[in-house]
Amino acid sequence: VYNYAAGPAVLPRPVLKQVQAELLDYRGSHQSILEISHRSPLFNDIYAAAKERVLKLLKLDNRYDVLFLQGGGTLQFTMVPLNLATKYHRAAYANTGHWAARALEEARKIPHLQADQVTDAGPDFTTIPAVPQLPAGKYDYLHITANNTIYGTSYHHLPATTVPLVGDLSSNFLGQEYQFDRFALLYAGAQKNLAPAGLTIVVAQRQLLAADQGLPSMLNYAALARKASTLNTPPVFQIYVAKLVLGWLEEQGGVQAIAAANQRKAALIYDFLDNSRLFTNKVARTARSFTNIPFTTGTPELDQRFIAEARQAGLLNLAGHRLVGGMRASLYNAMPYEGAVALRDFMAKFEKENQ
Ligand code: PLP
Repeated sequence: VYNYAAGPAVLPRPVLKQVQAELLDYRGSHQSILEISHRSPLFNDIYAAAKERVLKLLKLDNRYDVLFLQGGGTLQFTMVPLNLATKYHRAAYANTGHWAARALEEARKIPHLQADQVTDAGPDFTTIPAVPQLPAGKYDYLHITANNTIYGTSYHHLPATTVPLVGDLSSNFLGQEYQFDRFALLYAGAQKNLAPAGLTIVVAQRQLLAADQGLPSMLNYAALARKASTLNTPPVFQIYVAKLVLGWLEEQGGVQAIAAANQRKAALIYDFLDNSRLFTNKVARTARSFTNIPFTTGTPELDQRFIAEARQAGLLNLAGHRLVGGMRASLYNAMPYEGAVALRDFMAKFEKENQ
């Protein structure tokens, strides 16, 4: 059985086995990981290791810090403008799809902030338009959505800009390579590539996190950074699983290796789609996502049959997002190559049977 869900998504099996094995007694403590205190040395070790692994995997030095927060990617749509749009009170947003638009919409709710949409990917969001040159000294940051989970597009090159770059990497965090020190701040909900839902990672320049805007504490990066993300009770279990998944990623060879593996899996499906007489994918080739691949037969009834028959065959959660319909295969880090092969083979069989 393979799970192609867009999120919460499949986690590496060896990690889940380790979680299972040590669930009742965490490292001889006679306590479950679900019971240990976030003020205990046991947790401090987990936190420190998780943070160190994130920075190492992203090839970032100690000019950057990592926060382990709650509220999902969605709360960052609010925290980013509150904390960062403080000099010019103006921010630029690249609108490349639903989540990018949600980020823009939330920023526009902040009083005294002007949030400008600086790109338009058209009604179908099948491309990643170039970001125009933004004038210096006008914008506090430029926000991009690195991978568009619903429409299956992705930035393969970061926009060249002098404005501080902020990225929502929720659906390709640690699964696609970028020059991560080009980001002033990046964030990702954990539930696709890293851990169970309930954890959000924020990686940002320390200098940026240190600028205290006097915001309410739980919305204030500076206050959260000063307390190592434990202003209140943090999601200990999620951070523990993240630490293990990060260790697994290191064993796979780090981001470069896993990104190459993700590309190989995606290429199998795209190659099939490019030669298919039944299925299509509308995304411009240069903008294709390595992690989320939408496709359709063009006939809703046939799509439904495909999804149902795939489920019968052990290929789960292939329904497209409700906004776009059709199908979507999410091939995150923990999806083995065999999962992409199984999907490609099933599509070929379905195509043959429905000529
Ligand atoms: N940003 C992107 C790119 C997403 O794909 C999602 C959810 O799928 C979100 C943000 C929202 O994340 P969350 O559910 O963690 O708030």
